[in-house]
Amino acid sequence: MDLTLSPQEEAFRDELRSWLEENHPGPEPEGDEAAFEFRKDWQRKLADASYAGLSWPEEYGGRGATLIEQAIFNEEMVRAKAPMSANVLGLVMGGPVVIAHGTDDQKGRYLKPILTAEEIWCQGFSEPESGSDLASLKTKAVKSNGEWVVTGQKVWTTYAHQAKWCMLVARTDPDVPKHKGLTYFLMDMEQDAVQVRPLRQVTGEAEFNEIFMEEARIPDENVVGGVGNGWGVAITTLMHERAGLGFGSAVALKIALGELMDEIRDRGLDDDPVIRQRIGQLYIEAECLRLNASRGLTQIMKTGIPGPEGSLVKWQWSDSNQGLTELAMDIRGPEAPLVDDHWTYRFLRARANSIEGGTTEILKNIVAERVLGLPRLR
Ligand SMILES: Cc1cc2nc3c(=O)[nH]c(=O)nc-3n(C[C@H](O)[C@H](O)[C@H](O)COP(=O)(O)OP(=O)(O)OC[C@H]3O[C@@H](n4cnc5c(N)ncnc54)[C@H](O)[C@@H]3O)c2cc1C
Repeated sequence: MDLTLSPQEEAFRDELRSWLEENHPGPEPEGDEAAFEFRKDWQRKLADASYAGLSWPEEYGGRGATLIEQAIFNEEMVRAKAPMSANVLGLVMGGPVVIAHGTDDQKGRYLKPILTAEEIWCQGFSEPESGSDLASLKTKAVKSNGEWVVTGQKVWTTYAHQAKWCMLVARTDPDVPKHKGLTYFLMDMEQDAVQVRPLRQVTGEAEFNEIFMEEARIPDENVVGGVGNGWGVAITTLMHERAGLGFGSAVALKIALGELMDEIRDRGLDDDPVIRQRIGQLYIEAECLRLNASRGLTQIMKTGIPGPEGSLVKWQWSDSNQGLTELAMDIRGPEAPLVDDHWTYRFLRARANSIEGGTTEILKNIVAERVLGLPRLR
């Protein structure tokens, strides 16, 4: 693809840059609750300016922007160090899935409150014994009197404690092969039969949770994509999760690398040949990430849906981000465990990068089979 921006794309980028200069709300406040409210306000502001759900069709409150404009948007947000939106999972996965597989009623009901962060979404896929092998999940949904009764447990559910809606995959038919017996639901989290318990991460934060469902109720109209089609709808969700990552991450890596180089200079380590080599390597990786994100984008433009290339980008990003934060620890030498600052946080948070959104081993399998065409594992 031609990576040069057209005059319209440049105009879009410049308009966005000036908007960000005028509207950037400054640094995020300390504390989970305050940070959440801050992110909600920020997302409302984005939605008012039609920057939330940028590439969604206009009829659903988006701008109908092109994928290139979406990529520019992601880059510019990172470059401006803009806050995260409160409803990340709704914007990146929930909305696109409802647009791709939802009924007209579902589109009318769910899309707008995702954009404005009035209703926060979470993703209830993983279970204590089903992560990589998602299709083996055990949470069951049984139809009774026109509604679904759900019993089971989910785990690692990011933002479940703030969410109104859960993208829930449950087993509706135990008697067919495992991929075929699944259904995708939108479950209302605000019911007594759904209990959320926080899990504390190595960073000290509790951004993810366990969900316990004991005969939770889901009306039939909250099935997305038809009964028994949950696997296909779940795959759409995961493809969108990975596809959205590339451009912003490449810029974020370069910004972090610049900050790390300042620290390296301050410590008088900029002549160290090993450190220089590691920095050079990280810069190359950030550039490869950007180019592979473009490759993924080309694929989406050709087929209309994200392809397996997103898996490559996610794997590359987690490797590079971990490498970068490890270098930040290494330059501190033996004092590293005694310091507690933003690099310590980044280092600890990066450990999850090669697990969340699909482990690196699983992504390598996808790239081997679906990008390189190697024989299937099983
Ligand atoms: C920060 C964070 C946020 C998360 N948020 C969510 C969320 O919002 N919603 C949600 O549903 N889940 C979420 N998850 C869960 C995440 O999707 C799973 O942890 C992940 O899919 C791996 O599943 P698992 O933990 O059960 O590990 P397992 O699948 O048990 O894997 C254990 C190890 O075995 C390896 N392995 C497994 N199968 C294979 C194979 N076929 N070939 C080679 N190696 C293999 C894995 O790579 C891994 O190293 C989150 C995880 C993290 C860390």
